[in-house]
Amino acid sequence: MSNLRNCRRCGKLYVYTGRPICGSCIEEDEQLYKIVREYIEKHPRSTTFEVAEALDISVDKILQFLREGKLELSGDNINMLLECERCGKPIRTGRFCPECSADIEKELKKGYTVKEQTAASRNKSEMYMAHRRKK
Ligand SMILES: [Zn+2]
Ligand SMILES: [Zn+2]
Repeated sequence: MSNLRNCRRCGKLYVYTGRPICGSCIEEDEQLYKIVREYIEKHPRSTTFEVAEALDISVDKILQFLREGKLELSGDNINMLLECERCGKPIRTGRFCPECSADIEKELKKGYTVKEQTAASRNKSEMYMAHRRKK
């Protein structure tokens, strides 16, 4: 069964491979990413806006690379702006600050543990019933 979708960026029909954009858009992104990375390596202290202007691309595009974790801001680069999506604290890469990532991970684990416990206790009571019936 073919899994055709419309590319979220260019609208063309493409075979879905787990990414919201088509192959040529992915390639375009890769090219752009290389250019951005090279520029930042050469000009490590430039701001997001300066990079966007110099390369004639949108600020959103650079932020997208940062969010995807493709780009990471160097430790002394305080000019680039990227904010934690949860608390708004400035971060260097990804979508959340380390504290929020830890929190989110904890939340996810908590949910999983609760589910596991209910399943386990249900099994236990079933076993108990079976045991009693046998006697
Ligand atoms: Zn496309
Ligand atoms: Zn945060």
